[in-house]
Amino acid sequence: MRPHRLTPPATPEHPARPGTFARIVATFRPYRAQVGLVALLILVTAGLGLINPLLIKVVFNQVILGEGPESDRLRLLLIVVAVMIATPIVSGLLGLWQTYINNRVGQSVMRDLRNALYAHLQHMSLKFFTSTRTGEIQSRLSNDVGGVQGVLTDTASSIVSNIATVISTVVVMFVLSWELTVLSLGILPVFLLISRKVGKIRREVSGQTQESLADLTAHMQETLSVSGILLSKAFGRQPYEIGRFRAENQRLSELEVRRTMVGRGFFSLIQIFFSITPAFVYLVGGYLFLRGGAGAPEGIVGTIVAFTTLQSRLFFPMGQLLNVTVEVQSALALFDRIFEYLDLERDIVDRDGAIELRPQEVRGRVSFENVWFKYDRSRDIGPEEERVWTISGVDFEVEPGKLVALVGPSGAGKTTLTYLVPRLYDVTRGSVRVDGVDVRDIKLESLGDIIGMVTQETYLFNATIRENLRYGNPEASDEELEDAARAAYIWDRIVEMPEGLDTTVGERGYKMSGGEKQRLAIARVILKNPHILILDEATSALDTHSERLVQQALSPLIQGRTTIAIAHRLSTILAADTILFVDKGKITERGSHADLLARDGAYAALYHEQFSDGAIETRCEDGLVLASGDVVTEREAV
Ligand code: ATP
Repeated sequence: MRPHRLTPPATPEHPARPGTFARIVATFRPYRAQVGLVALLILVTAGLGLINPLLIKVVFNQVILGEGPESDRLRLLLIVVAVMIATPIVSGLLGLWQTYINNRVGQSVMRDLRNALYAHLQHMSLKFFTSTRTGEIQSRLSNDVGGVQGVLTDTASSIVSNIATVISTVVVMFVLSWELTVLSLGILPVFLLISRKVGKIRREVSGQTQESLADLTAHMQETLSVSGILLSKAFGRQPYEIGRFRAENQRLSELEVRRTMVGRGFFSLIQIFFSITPAFVYLVGGYLFLRGGAGAPEGIVGTIVAFTTLQSRLFFPMGQLLNVTVEVQSALALFDRIFEYLDLERDIVDRDGAIELRPQEVRGRVSFENVWFKYDRSRDIGPEEERVWTISGVDFEVEPGKLVALVGPSGAGKTTLTYLVPRLYDVTRGSVRVDGVDVRDIKLESLGDIIGMVTQETYLFNATIRENLRYGNPEASDEELEDAARAAYIWDRIVEMPEGLDTTVGERGYKMSGGEKQRLAIARVILKNPHILILDEATSALDTHSERLVQQALSPLIQGRTTIAIAHRLSTILAADTILFVDKGKITERGSHADLLARDGAYAALYHEQFSDGAIETRCEDGLVLASGDVVTEREAV
C-alpha cells in the first residue's frame, strides 16, 4: 500500500478549503465572553489613544498661542498635562489585562485543538497508522498546532485593535483636515493589493515549510528510535542517515529564510512611505499656513502638530494590518493541515444501535462465517480474482474456553484473521461473531474489554513495570500484580531487580530481555482477564530456559479461555482443540494434530519440517505421547 499522503497544503493554485476561516472562528465559540471583553478593552484603549494628540492641539492653540488670562491658561495646561499622564497609565494597565485574557483564550483554543486531534487520532483505525508515518502525525500535533499559536494569541486581537486604532485615528485626522488626510493615505489601496499578493506567496511557502518540518520530524523519529539506531548501526548507515538529515534540514532552513524574507521588501516600502509622509504634511501645511488657508491661520499650527502625531500613531497599526494579511495566510495553511486531520474519517466506528456486552453474560464463542477480507478496498475485484483477497471464504468456530491454533506458511493471513475479531480491521464480506453477535454490532469499547491480545512483538511503555502491568487493569492491587506476575513466571525476576515493580523498562522495554518482555506481556493480559484471548506467538527463538518459562506462563493464560493462537510452539499446537492450517488466505486443513498427521497433507509436511525431532508424537486419551514413548498430560506439555 502506498504511504498515506494527504492532499498538499493550500497554495495559490489550491486555495485553502472554503470554510477554514469560519472553522477557526468556531473554535473560539466557547470563549465568546472573553473575546467580547477583549474587544471592549481594545475599543476603550483605542479611544484613550486619541486623547493625547487632541490635547496637544489644545496645548498649542489654547495654551501657548491662545488668548485670555495667563492664570486660566496655566490652569488649563496643568489639567491637560494631568490627563496626558493619566491616559497612558490607564491604557497601559488595560493593555496588560487584555494581553492576559488574550493569551488565555489563545492557549485554550490550542489546547482544545490538540485534545481534539489526539482524541480523533486515538480512534483512527489501524489502517491509518500502518499507512502514515508516525513523525508526520506527531508533527501535525506539535508543529502545526504550535505554529498557529502566534495567530491565536496575537493576530486576532491585533487585527481588532489595529482596525480600531486606524479607524478612530483616520476619523479624527479627517475632522482635523481632510486635505492632509487624503494626501497622507491616498496611496494605501496600492499597498493593500500588494499585501494580498505577498500573502498568497507566503501561504505557499508556509505549507512547504510545515511539510518539510514534518519530513524532518518523521526522519528523526524513525532513525533516532531504539530500533532505528540499531538498524543504522548494524548496517553502518550512519553517514547515509546524517546526509539525509542534512539535506532535509538544509531545505527546511532555506524555506524558513524564504518565509521570513517574503514581503520584507514590501514592508520596507511601507516603512519608508510612513516615514516620509510627515514631510509632505509639513510641506502642504506650511504652504497653507503661509497662504492663510485650511481654517484660521492661528489654528493651523496645532492642527499640523496634532495631525503628524496622529499620523505617527497610524504607522505601526497600518504596517501590522498589512502584515496580518500575510500572517493570516500563513496560518491558514497550518489550520488547513490541522483540520485535514480532524476531518479524517474514522472507518471503524460503532454502528447505530450497537450493543454493549455484559461481561458476566459473555460466553466467548467466536465464529467466522464466510469471511472475505482485502487490505486495499479501493480495488473492487470479485472473488474470482483471488489474488487481491488476503482472506477468502473462511469459516470456523471456537467454542467457549477452547483453543484453536492457526498454523501455516508465512504471509498466509493468520495475523490478519486474528485482527478481524477485535475489529482492528473490518471484514470486507461475511461476518465475525462473538456469542452469535456480529462484532460490528457490538460497541467497540465493550468488544475491547472482553478481548486480550498478546502480540508477536511485545510493546512496553517506557515506564515502570507496575505501570506497564496496570495497563491491563488500572485498578489492580499490588497483590493482584504479584499474582499475575507469578502466574506469568516473571515475579522472581522482578524481585531481583533493584527497584522491583518500580523499575523502568526503558524505551519500548529494551532494558528487558525478549523472554522477560513476553512474560510481562502475558502477565499484563492475565490482569486484564479477558474472555477471548488472541495469541500471536513470537517466532524469535529464545533459549531453552526462557522458552520453557514463556510456555509455563502461557499455560494459565490459555486455560479455560477462548483462545485463537497463531502457534509457532509445538506445545501450543498440541494443546489445541482444533488446528486450522491456513494457506493463501484459506483454511485448507482442519482437525486435531493426530487427524492432520494421518492425513499426511500440508500440515504434516510443515510439522515434519519444523519439528522433525518429533519431541512429541501425538495425542492419546491420557495426553501426549512423546517420541520416547512416555505419556504426559497436556498441562504438563504446555
Ligand atoms: P506471518 O506468519 O509471517 O506473520 P501471516 O500468516 O500472519 O504471516 P499476515 O500478516 O496476515 O500473514 O499477512 C497476510 C498478507 O497480507 C501478506 O501478504 C501481507 O503482505 C499482507 N498484509 C499484511 N498487513 C498488511 C497491510 N497493513 N496492508 C496491506 N497488506 C498487508
